[in-house]
Amino acid sequence: MLEGEVRVHWKSGKHKADPNAGAPLDASFAGRPHGLFSKKAAHTTTGPLPSVVAIDPGQKNIWCASYYDATKVDSRGEATKLLNLSRPQYNRETGVDGFRKWLVKAKKTSSRFTEAEAVMAEHSLKSVGIEGYESNLVVQRRQFEVLKYLYGSRTFAKRRFLLARRKQRFDTTFVNGAVRTFREAGGDDVVVAYGDGSFPTSMKGMVGGGSAHKRLMALLSKKMRVVLTSEYRTTKACPTCRNKDESMVQPKGNVVVTYRNGLQRRTRIHGLSQCSCCGTLWSRDYAASLNIARSFVSHFRTGDPAGYLSAAARSGPRCSKLLGVNTVV
Ligand SMILES: [Zn+2]
Repeated sequence: MLEGEVRVHWKSGKHKADPNAGAPLDASFAGRPHGLFSKKAAHTTTGPLPSVVAIDPGQKNIWCASYYDATKVDSRGEATKLLNLSRPQYNRETGVDGFRKWLVKAKKTSSRFTEAEAVMAEHSLKSVGIEGYESNLVVQRRQFEVLKYLYGSRTFAKRRFLLARRKQRFDTTFVNGAVRTFREAGGDDVVVAYGDGSFPTSMKGMVGGGSAHKRLMALLSKKMRVVLTSEYRTTKACPTCRNKDESMVQPKGNVVVTYRNGLQRRTRIHGLSQCSCCGTLWSRDYAASLNIARSFVSHFRTGDPAGYLSAAARSGPRCSKLLGVNTVV
């Protein structure tokens, strides 16, 4: 920092996204209108089981939300899909696609930008020794000087600002809609079980930035009670047979690809999961949200994850079919 320079503090209190800042994450959520809680809070809370909405956050599907009905015996009716926000839909509606298109076009306006990027890619700072690193760094810095005319331009700043604003607006509208949907399904005493696989509970360094599902979760926790629930084994364990194997596999479709060496293989279908023990076909994220809901309910009742979702489950009894030949082609 130069002498006399003013340091701007971005992380002032009023920007904090965590509504529970300072409050213990493990505290009971009974009687609280909203906030962020840890899975331990589920067991700390006494009284009847609240309505549960489970959200599986992911990369392809940012949110997959289901309403959970603990009274249903059949695993097919246990959860009802409420909403799904896919990555392409998010990128389209927030203007990420448009922004990227503009950037590609802007780079093409001058060959020096494309050349600079090509040179930078050739002189990567990754996986080189110290000498290579130093010489490549000189090259990289020279290209920065060129690229600053693009990334330091007023147009770029304006575009980036507009993108951030559109994202903010989309997030608010989307979360408001989601809150309405969740309340319609689960009434006023509804708790959101949120898969915690993608981030730690501390939420440090998360001030309005971060990925889409982090921003959406922060917004949601200002309106509803969000309980971070373990995602362990939720995409691998089958909700129907609750076995101890990692029995869920991606099934193969009818599309055949031919490799260069002449071998032919059927491609696997994205977003689908099939249990290799009982054969049940699942939408991958839906099965995960069902498992997350069960994990929450089990935590609420016993303080532990459901038996087939726990770490100990891996050493338990196996599916009898899987002991023989794997029947899934
Ligand atoms: Zn199964």
